Amino acid sequence: MLAGVAGLLTACASSESETPPQEESPKSGAELYRSGVIHHPGPASDGCEPRNKIIRHLVIHHTGAPLPSSLTMLQGKDPERSVGVHYVVSDEPAPRVIDMVPESYAAYHAGKSAWLEADGLNHSSIGIEIINLDGNRHPYPADQMELIIALCDEIVRRHGIRPENVVGHSDVSVGRKIDPGALFPWRTLAEHGIGAWPLAIDVEELLDAPVPDADLSRKLLTAYGYRLEPGKDGLRNGIEAFQRHFRAHRVDGTMDSETGALLRALLRRYRPETPLGLPEKTPLEDAG
Ligand SMILES: [Zn+2]
Repeated sequence: MLAGVAGLLTACASSESETPPQEESPKSGAELYRSGVIHHPGPASDGCEPRNKIIRHLVIHHTGAPLPSSLTMLQGKDPERSVGVHYVVSDEPAPRVIDMVPESYAAYHAGKSAWLEADGLNHSSIGIEIINLDGNRHPYPADQMELIIALCDEIVRRHGIRPENVVGHSDVSVGRKIDPGALFPWRTLAEHGIGAWPLAIDVEELLDAPVPDADLSRKLLTAYGYRLEPGKDGLRNGIEAFQRHFRAHRVDGTMDSETGALLRALLRRYRPETPLGLPEKTPLEDAG
């Protein structure tokens, strides 16, 4: 387990036993933002370059590694694979936001990535790495989530990031990445006004619609933002990525009525210009 590893971290001068509650004034170079989030200075990172695009996306990751090695890796010193990120949210007993790359720089956190019309999201995104060994197996603790929500809220407001552009790494690197994992509580985030979630009334109504076939599934996923590889596997990976975000209780890569309803409801809410491929005249429309 991770207990004790925090002591190895030297980026912040305060010791574990002295970690203050968030209401108190920050110390050791930490900065209290207007949002109420305390930002702790972390090590600098070479995994970045001056930003050349407007910030439009927020990309969330799990590190898959404990805090000390994550901070080492995210300093981007490996010339073969330089990585970096803007913020790390720790898993310490009192979780912290650790600042690494300044927001004015593009950090190398997304790699090969795409969302809707955007490619290579490093330059158009803020990246948050959450310390969790595997968000598909390990739940995100409540106190860590509280801090993540506050941090995301602050970022989304500051940059006016649209709900559907708050995404996981697995959403934007389909078939390549699985973080932040099926246990990341996207719905809770949405309940706090961060990120997209379908309206329950739409989902309920659309559950009766015909299940989208392969062609339509691909069209709908693409219209929402997913960039799919061609072929059966490409589609399967896309459905899995979607389910990991919006239908986490069963991630099986198969389009079914619930997955189809969630996807169509999201499109109706956030991309209302998209044809949903519903039958011409249905009782649904009459009812609506
Ligand atoms: Zn990632």
